[in-house]
Amino acid sequence: MAETNGISHGERTTKKMHFVIVGGSLGGLATGIALKTLGHNTTILERNPTPLLHDQGAGIVAGGPALEFLRRYNRCKRQDIAVPSDRRQYLNKNGDIIHSVDASHNMSSWDLTYHLMRANYDGLTSPYCDVPPDDPTHGTTTHQHNSTVTSVAQTPSGVQVTYYTTTDPNLTFTINADVLIAADGPSSAIRSLFLPSLKRTYTGYCALRGTVPESNISSSTLSLLTNRFTFFHAPGIQILTYLIPGPHGTLTPGERLVNFVYYTNFPADSPEFREIMTDKDGKHHRLTLPPGMVSPSAWEKQKQIAKEKLPPQFAEVVCAATRPFVQAVTDVISPTNEFLDGKVVLIGDALAGFRPHTVASTSQAAYDAMVYADYVAGEITREEWKVKTMGYARYLKTSPVSVLCGFTQEGLYVTNEVMANMAELPEVGQSDTFVD
Ligand SMILES: Cc1cc2nc3c(=O)[nH]c(=O)nc-3n(C[C@H](O)[C@H](O)[C@H](O)COP(=O)(O)OP(=O)(O)OC[C@H]3O[C@@H](n4cnc5c(N)ncnc54)[C@H](O)[C@@H]3O)c2cc1C
Repeated sequence: MAETNGISHGERTTKKMHFVIVGGSLGGLATGIALKTLGHNTTILERNPTPLLHDQGAGIVAGGPALEFLRRYNRCKRQDIAVPSDRRQYLNKNGDIIHSVDASHNMSSWDLTYHLMRANYDGLTSPYCDVPPDDPTHGTTTHQHNSTVTSVAQTPSGVQVTYYTTTDPNLTFTINADVLIAADGPSSAIRSLFLPSLKRTYTGYCALRGTVPESNISSSTLSLLTNRFTFFHAPGIQILTYLIPGPHGTLTPGERLVNFVYYTNFPADSPEFREIMTDKDGKHHRLTLPPGMVSPSAWEKQKQIAKEKLPPQFAEVVCAATRPFVQAVTDVISPTNEFLDGKVVLIGDALAGFRPHTVASTSQAAYDAMVYADYVAGEITREEWKVKTMGYARYLKTSPVSVLCGFTQEGLYVTNEVMANMAELPEVGQSDTFVD
């Protein structure tokens, strides 16, 4: 059996390998958990200067691959991480339901998912969940924060990875690995080393996001939104809400959060775009403005627009958010998921960061991690791994919602009729195949 990158293609390898994973968010953690379960040793290098990533307090929709990942690998006693939603509904400007369809979704939060994954990866204790017992068959795990990776060089047996810490940015450190996994997000530094001309491109619209404790929402609005995935569309606007777990991942009714994602056009280079991306201290952010940093005057303007343009229930939720944040929506997709003959592998948003839509990014991270683990375990061939991973990324990039959210500079416009008739994204399972 051919062996190039240390992985015996098509058959289970008995060699214990060392994987260095760049990025300790959901993609890096998912890959670390899957590989340690196979008995391999892993080291996560995360640039964040503190041991825990700070959540942006927002929701994620746990799609098929994310749920399948948890079924396979979550060893915590806590299994339930989602607030269920059983209908999609569409409102008109007056706030009346104009269409609804039965559709089951699992709404979770980024911070609960992160803490659950940390408990499974390196046994982090937190109020979110219990920590599973050690399993002697698992590989070792190291989670190293304050470690920004800058380069990777091929060695005869693998790769050498270089990083620095904030203690002295001029001092660099190296670590050797059989394989480097780049799970360093849509602006991936590792991808840029191999594909320097591939850039994220701004699509012309932003997501204004936030959460509101359900106890701060009027009872009429809350009863409309509870257990529902609710949408409103108008020229240049798409907004959606759903309920997510509350502080420390609680699912208790009354303590959960109403999550909103409000997509709206901000043409590139326009004064409005500059204004919303300039924080309360006057600093301009290129793509993401974190919670608590939005300028009060810019947000006041958005609240006024929300009151004018949104159904009253959506306007109420947007106006009640105290720590909104802004994400400029971008596109990027790598033409390949591996470099240096498979010694460098892209996972999750580093491989393809696309326009947000239901179940996309977290599902991709979980899917990539599972399929890569299947390849490392010898259950699928290298070609199958590649076709599945690249196929899934391209599938998500061109899926109906992504395309519908594409009419940007001319106006983000998705009609209620189109949305209502739009087929649900099919669940993608391990057995699905894609044309590469
Ligand atoms: C703090 C945080 C909060 C988030 N909150 C939400 C949310 O509420 N809802 C939602 O839908 N999505 C959220 N996301 C995005 C979501 O995690 C991803 O879209 C998806 O899960 C894919 O994850 P990923 O690990 O591929 O990429 P990302 O989540 O983007 O993670 C990339 C990681 O790599 C690290 N990194 C980047 N460059 C380097 C480097 N050179 N060296 C070392 N480390 C590096 C980053 O600090 C980051 O932790 C959040 C991401 C982060 C980082």
